[in-house]
Amino acid sequence: MNNEKTIPYKIYLNENEMPKQYYNLRADMKEKPAPLLNPSTLKPMTFEELRGVFCDELVKQELDDTTPYFDIPQEIQDFYKMYRPSPLVRAYCLEEKLQTPAKIYYKFEGNNTSGSHKLNSAIAQAYYAKKQGLKGVTTETGAGQWGTALSMACSYLGLDCDVYMVKVSYEQKPFRREVMRTYGANVTPSPSSTTEVGRRILAEHPGTTGSLGCAISEAVEAAVTREGYRYVLGSVLSQVVLHQSIIGLETKTAMDKFNIVPDIIIGCAGGGSNLGGLIAPFMGEKLRGERDYRFIAVEPASCPSLTRGKYAYDFCDTGKVCPLAKMYTLGSGFIPSANHAGGLRYHGMSSVLSELYDQGMMEARSYEQTEVFKAATQFARVEGILPAPESSHAIKAAVDEAMRCKETGEEKTILFGLTGTGYFDLKAYAQFNEGTMTDYVPGDEELAASFSTLPAVDERK
Ligand SMILES: *Cc1c(COP(=O)(O)O)cnc(C)c1O
Repeated sequence: MNNEKTIPYKIYLNENEMPKQYYNLRADMKEKPAPLLNPSTLKPMTFEELRGVFCDELVKQELDDTTPYFDIPQEIQDFYKMYRPSPLVRAYCLEEKLQTPAKIYYKFEGNNTSGSHKLNSAIAQAYYAKKQGLKGVTTETGAGQWGTALSMACSYLGLDCDVYMVKVSYEQKPFRREVMRTYGANVTPSPSSTTEVGRRILAEHPGTTGSLGCAISEAVEAAVTREGYRYVLGSVLSQVVLHQSIIGLETKTAMDKFNIVPDIIIGCAGGGSNLGGLIAPFMGEKLRGERDYRFIAVEPASCPSLTRGKYAYDFCDTGKVCPLAKMYTLGSGFIPSANHAGGLRYHGMSSVLSELYDQGMMEARSYEQTEVFKAATQFARVEGILPAPESSHAIKAAVDEAMRCKETGEEKTILFGLTGTGYFDLKAYAQFNEGTMTDYVPGDEELAASFSTLPAVDERK
């Protein structure tokens, strides 16, 4: 159908075409995302309040919604050269298989040892910590992608890296744990007896296998109670969306080289960092009224923050130690079912994306995991890459859009983010292959119960 292969299968950039600045999407938003609030005073968090937890430079980036571009320090640019530019692939084989007139492209971020886009922000966060003269950073990890990315970045720069890994993942994903330790990280199963909050949780719930919220609480405590340490986070925050703009900037440059203009841009959405990064320069054009695009966020039906959540101030963590963020949320106490897309099991969504969604600039949809794995398998068989379950949500939406084009005969250009590889998710693939995978969609009562725990914040300032 697309026999004329005038566009290469893979579009790369030369080193001198690589982005030298991050793009801050917030600068082009007329209505800005709501500020982070201090949970005790309900006033916007200040630089002074945040700098005890995060590195100074990252706090500046977090609070800045007017500066459009931030220089990427040369050291970070050099690190990027080890695994970037990531390829922009024309999915000729998938198009052929689907017999669709649509043109499909994907930006593949799984080409590094951490296996996902998370390394793009990990190196930036570790760099600013090092530059500030800190000894190390602490963080939590659930499925393990973020912890792995951060340990790679820290070992490169010679920083300590303390990772609190949700106990159930620590036990079930020993290989991820071993990659982190190989890169020199200290990996502690959470809850642990090394922190006060961990000891309290263990006393109240002996035998618990932990949760992301609990691991965050421990990681924050480990940062703020020790000299020379700060806490870092792999998604949700606006600084992370800023770093991930490297994905969209590379994509835009590569597409411009061949005069390709996407009609639809699709990404999976956990905390929103890869999607926010991929769409950033395109959304900037839309915000400035230069060009129109359709943007689609895809989430699991088991953790539907955009499609069924409330746009409200909420805690970023179950332990309620972090600032309040205004976002589409299911409530910080929401415990998603054991969905295999670990990286998408977060109760809230980036405040930047939440605001854009609320303004009607972006669409959202959700899929159940069995249909997502079906699309993943279909993709793996024709495009050769074994996709991460998270990324496969975007694949499913891209395939659906391509099939719609087949019905209507429209030759749309579809771009999606392929965030990572699924080699550590083979237990999930096994369940799918054996036909034992189940789908879980929370009921309205379950969500209502979770919404009832939202903090009361009067937004009339
Ligand atoms: C963490 C992760 C995601 C989701 O995180 P976002 O911040 O929403 O981008 C998606 N895909 C992979 C492979 C991940 O590791």
